Amino acid sequence: MNIIRTLFSKPDIDNRIRALGQELTEFYQGKPLTAVVLLNGAMFFAADLLRHVKTELFVDSVCAGSYVGNQSSGQVNFRSGLKLPVTSRHVLLVDDILDTGVTLAAVKAEMEKQGALSVRTCVMLDKKRQRSAAGLASADWCAFEVPDVYIVGYGLDADELYRNDPEIKYMENPGREL
Ligand code: 5GP
Ligand code: MG
Repeated sequence: MNIIRTLFSKPDIDNRIRALGQELTEFYQGKPLTAVVLLNGAMFFAADLLRHVKTELFVDSVCAGSYVGNQSSGQVNFRSGLKLPVTSRHVLLVDDILDTGVTLAAVKAEMEKQGALSVRTCVMLDKKRQRSAAGLASADWCAFEVPDVYIVGYGLDADELYRNDPEIKYMENPGREL
């Protein structure tokens, strides 16, 4: 049986996101900003966070990932790309979780290649574990740090389930029946 336990409740998430939104508002005030959301995992986090960022900004998304089931394959695939040009704009990548760091490093390099003025990263969760050599070492902003466990809820899935759970949870026996 799979046991799922809460790490961060809805009020924990709401409070932290409001504070993070204020930090981002101050940082990006007066700068041409495009928030690029990494789908699907960051959609709930980004929707809540970006409503607290009180600057003029564009919102775009990319779909990139390295996970198959609950294992990282180490290879990043782009399943869909940007709709807006990022030339002459500051880019804030919004992702769900920094794990090996391979996905964010690849997306960041792609935005730089496309001519962004700057590329910074904001993640909902920073998983405390050894990053891959090719991975992004740390994010510029992070809502919460988590231990090296398998997280679900608030956008994060286990075989596409649990994304709509309003809390951030972890699975005690990932890989067993989901
Ligand atoms: P990285 O490239 O940093 O290893 O992986 C980042 C992506 O892997 C995340 O955006 C997320 O989609 C997925 N991922 C990493 N750790 C977890 C986890 O604990 N739970 C879930 N559901 N996905 C994860
Ligand atoms: Mg992801």
